[in-house]
Amino acid sequence: MPTLSRRAESLGTENAFVVLAEVNQLIRSGKDIVSFCIGQPDFATPAHVQDAAVEAVRGGKHGYTPSAGIDELRAAAAASMARARGISISPDEVVVGAGAKPFIAYAIASVTDYGAGDEVIFPVPGFPIYESQCRANGAVPVGLPLREAREFAFDPDELAACITPRTKLLILNAPQNPTGGVLSSADLRAIAAVLERHRQIWVYADEIYSRLVYDAEFVSIAALPGMQERTIISDGASKTYAMTGWRIGFTANRQLAPVFTRWITNTESCASQISQWAAVAALNGPQDAAENMRRRFLARRDLIVRLLNQVPGFRCAAPGGAFYAWPNVTEACALIGASDSEELRKRLLHEAGVAVLADIHFGPRVAGDGQHIRFSYAAAESAIEAGVERIADFVRRATRPPRK
Ligand code: PMP
Repeated sequence: MPTLSRRAESLGTENAFVVLAEVNQLIRSGKDIVSFCIGQPDFATPAHVQDAAVEAVRGGKHGYTPSAGIDELRAAAAASMARARGISISPDEVVVGAGAKPFIAYAIASVTDYGAGDEVIFPVPGFPIYESQCRANGAVPVGLPLREAREFAFDPDELAACITPRTKLLILNAPQNPTGGVLSSADLRAIAAVLERHRQIWVYADEIYSRLVYDAEFVSIAALPGMQERTIISDGASKTYAMTGWRIGFTANRQLAPVFTRWITNTESCASQISQWAAVAALNGPQDAAENMRRRFLARRDLIVRLLNQVPGFRCAAPGGAFYAWPNVTEACALIGASDSEELRKRLLHEAGVAVLADIHFGPRVAGDGQHIRFSYAAAESAIEAGVERIADFVRRATRPPRK
């Protein structure tokens, strides 16, 4: 039999998609499930953005584009990313891709060598594609724990301790998936001070949730002195404009832009031209739909955090951004006799009709931080109320009497 490569064997996945398939299967078989498992806005793409796509199709704008994207979108993305970060970005530093996700692989592949022992540091819990792409590209994944006691920021001293002469890339993600944590200016300054001592390290700033920040101004590591040239800023249309399926993401870095462009020529050729024109309208047009979604997410955050804190054995801090809640469920697991968060997740799905993800879908659990599950609260208020009530009922029902 022909065999598979080590690369293929080591490729991980994003369990949100696996659980989603399971949930859809249950729904198709007639089960009533409230789902909090997929990280995408439940709003419609703004109407003027839809119109721009239709206009592009009708106007014959549906062929290949340059691999880096159409000039109009590169300019719009440069201006939008620059404005949100208080820096200047020129359009030729920007590369457009089919979502922000492909740039994770391109960045790792562009700054590490296969099997050479090059190390990549990334947050744990974190977006599972970071580790998966490190392994697939023959880099050494180094998880940096996010701690509940620090509101899911990492300790800069722990970062300093992870760095070796082989560290090539540090992946930051704020606001964060799955914890909803943000990095404060003080955190970023501390990180920059550590990096100052290690000039060989690139930074991949995964800022796909940059427009979903609730209690403070968004700040980017790229805005700190000396950081922009070594930082790959990554953002996109998916989360800000409810455009996940349109597949438009963009990055900015002067040195790596031509390299990313070449990767795209080698893979997807270009992002969909239709989606690119839609994204131009999203970025250059009125921002009220995006701002309205942000306000709705903020209201939902407050709702879900309040309700989750009323569930026996749940403890949930208010996350500063994105649309994820990450309650500590250690006590709830003990109450119902579940060995861990994954068993709790399965029981919630099958016995309470509520779909969530478990912490182990985002890397190994952080020692001493207990059990967590992830809720995406990009769901209607009524679904949030009904879903959390189901969970509270289930925990009460399933609670075992205390041992004598
Ligand atoms: N980074 C993070 C942290 C994410 O959560 C996601 C989407 N779930 C992405 C990147 C990718 O977003 P997209 O490819 O849709 O732009």
